[in-house]
Amino acid sequence: MTQEVDDGGRKKGVTTKKIGGALNEMFRTAFQRPITKDYPFGAPQVAERFRGKLDIDPVKCTGCGVCEAVCPAAVIEMIHMGKRKVGTREIETKRPIFNLYTCISCGQCVDDCRFGALMLTHEFELATVDKNSLIMDKALKIVS
Ligand code: SF4
Ligand code: SF4
Repeated sequence: MTQEVDDGGRKKGVTTKKIGGALNEMFRTAFQRPITKDYPFGAPQVAERFRGKLDIDPVKCTGCGVCEAVCPAAVIEMIHMGKRKVGTREIETKRPIFNLYTCISCGQCVDDCRFGALMLTHEFELATVDKNSLIMDKALKIVS
């Protein structure tokens, strides 16, 4: 048995089925509310566990350096801040800076910081023409 073909060489039955499917889909969705979001005109909703821009609580950071060791994207650099006295000892003080323009928000540093100093926020609008604005050096500023 041969199947009828249209001018374009397509099998007629197949073309009709496709058009029928498309019409069904069109009528099915014509009266539904749009599922697309109104962003950037409406406030975006992100999931509770969304991993956005990294942040640090500088008060909790002890300068242990674990975050630098575990970061797979080489975002973190420990900066030497000089020595400070702890009891009778003098110890080297370091604090991390974060070059967030290479951060992939993997969360490894957050998971491994045993002092709970790091967190991933819901902030995701990080596009900038000045990548230096994404350098986070808060932890350097509170070391006395
Ligand atoms: S942020 Fe956490 S892991 Fe990184 S140096 Fe500070 S205390 Fe250590
Ligand atoms: S979230 Fe991941 S990529 Fe970003 S600084 Fe932490 S370990 Fe590095």
